[in-house]
Amino acid sequence: MTSQDVRKQFLEFFASKGHLIVPSAPIVLKDDPTLMFNNSGMAQFKEYFLGNGTPKSNRIADTQKCLRVSGKHNDLEDVGFDTYHHTMFEMLGNWSFGDYFKKEAINWAWELLTEVYKIPKENLYISVFEGNPAENVPFDQEAWHIWAALIDEDRIILGNKKDNFWEMGDQGPCGPCSEIHVDIRSAEEKALVSGKSLVNNDHPQVVEIWNNVFMEFNRKADGSLEKLPAKHVDTGMGFERLCMALQGKTSNYDTDVFTPLIEKVEQITGFKYVDNAVTPSAVEEKTNIAIRVVVDHVRAVAFAIADGQLPSNTGAGYVIRRILRRAIRYGFTFLNTKEPFINQLVSVLANQMGEFFPEIKLQQQLVTNVIREEEASFLRTLDQGLQLLDKVIEEEKGTIIAGAKAFELYDTFGFPIDLTALILREKGFELDEAGFNAAMQEQKKRSRAASEVSTEDWSVLIPGNVETFVGYDQSESDVKITRIRKV
Ligand code: ATP
Ligand code: MG
Ligand code: MG
Ligand code: MG
Repeated sequence: MTSQDVRKQFLEFFASKGHLIVPSAPIVLKDDPTLMFNNSGMAQFKEYFLGNGTPKSNRIADTQKCLRVSGKHNDLEDVGFDTYHHTMFEMLGNWSFGDYFKKEAINWAWELLTEVYKIPKENLYISVFEGNPAENVPFDQEAWHIWAALIDEDRIILGNKKDNFWEMGDQGPCGPCSEIHVDIRSAEEKALVSGKSLVNNDHPQVVEIWNNVFMEFNRKADGSLEKLPAKHVDTGMGFERLCMALQGKTSNYDTDVFTPLIEKVEQITGFKYVDNAVTPSAVEEKTNIAIRVVVDHVRAVAFAIADGQLPSNTGAGYVIRRILRRAIRYGFTFLNTKEPFINQLVSVLANQMGEFFPEIKLQQQLVTNVIREEEASFLRTLDQGLQLLDKVIEEEKGTIIAGAKAFELYDTFGFPIDLTALILREKGFELDEAGFNAAMQEQKKRSRAASEVSTEDWSVLIPGNVETFVGYDQSESDVKITRIRKV
C-alpha cells in the first residue's frame, strides 16, 4: 500500500463515519504566543476545547503537518539517530467536539487498524491510563473495558501519567488517553522477549502509533478535577510510522515517504544508504545517520518556507535556519558535499507530496532558491569554522570547550550553538553553555551601548529550557532572502 493510499484510506474511513475532512493548518503559527510551530493535530482546534467558538462540524478529521523542534515537544536530538522520530511529520487525526466519546473512538480505531489496514491483532498493544490517586485522577476503567472486548486482556498495559494522561496546561481540559503500539519485530525476536515489556521503552520496532485522548475533566485552579459538561475526543496517529507498519518495513526511512528522497541523495553524493533489513557497519551507520538527517530536515525546512516562514536570525525563522545548517553540516562532513545540494531535493518532495499539499508545488521555485542561497551562505564559512573547532579541541587539555570559543563560531561563522554542541559531542567534548550565554550577553551589552537602541532580540519560549533559545540578530543579514521573496 503506497503512502498516498494510507492517507487517503484514513480520511475516507472517517468521512464514512460522518467526519468533515479539513485541510492541514500551516506548519508555522503566526498568532499563538505560546507555540511557534504546529506540533500536533489538535493545535488548530485548541480554542474549541477551551469553549471559545464552535467548529464547522462536531466531527472532524485531517492530516496535520507537525514540527517538533522546540518547546515541550523537541525531538530534534533523536532525528537521524533513531528510525521513527522526525522533525516534520504528518499526524492523522479525528476529533469529536462534544459528540461521540470512548466507545466509538476506540471501536473505530480498532476497525480501521485491523479491518481496513489489516494489521494483525497479535502485533498490537494498547496502553490505558492506570490512575494517579495522589493527583486525584482515576484509572480509566471505561476505556479498559471497551478495549478488553476487542483484544486479549494481556495485551492491555497500564500506563502512567506521563504517557497516558493529557493536559493542556496547569488548568483546563484534560483526560486519560489510550495509546496503540505496534510490534513489527521478527518472529524470532518476539519469541525471545515479549513485546509487552518493550512498549514505551524506545525500542525501534515496538513503537507507539496512535494516541487517543479522551477529554473528560477540567482541572481547576486549586488542582481539583471536575467533569466537563461536554466531552471531547482528540486523536493523533503518526503517518510515517503507520506507513512503516503497513509496508512491512522496520524503519520509517524504508517507506516510500522517504525512499525517493534517499535515492536522490545517493544519486547526488554517490553514497549508499543501507536499509534497515541489513545491519550496517559502523562506517555505513555514519553515512546512514547523515542521509536520514538530510532527508528529514529538508521536509521540515521546505514545508516551513512554503508556509511562509523564511530562514532568518530570529524567532521561528532561526529555528528553520538551525535545522537547515544542521543538515548542511551532516552533508559536508559525512557525505562530502562541498556545494549546495539539499535544494535539489525540493523537486522530489514537490512531486511526491504536491498532490496532497499543493503549497509545496506552488512554492517549489521559491523554496528551492531560498534553500540554495542558505546553503551557499553557510558553506562559505562552514569549513573555516570546523577547522577552528578542530584547533580548539586540539589545544584543549580537559573535555570542556570554553563558551567564548563557541560564541566566536556563532558570531563569525554562523554556527548555531546546538550545532557546535553536537559536533563536540561527536568528538567526546562538552560545551560550556553558561560561558556561551555570558559571551552573548556581553555582546548584547556592547551593541546596545553602541547604538543606544535596545534590541530585545533573544526570545525564550519556556524559561530555563536552553533548546528554546531561538535567535539573535547580529552579524548576518536577511538581504538575500528578502530579495528572493520578491521574485
Ligand atoms: P513518542 O513517545 O514516540 O515520542 P509521543 O507520545 O510524543 O510519541 P504524541 O504526542 O502522543 O507522541 O503524538 C501522537 C502520535 O504522533 C504518536 O503516537 C506518534 O505516532 C506520532 N509522533 C509523535 N512524535 C513524532 C515524531 N517526532 N516523528 C514522527 N511521528 C511522531
Ligand atoms: Mg515524543
Ligand atoms: Mg509517547
Ligand atoms: Mg503519545
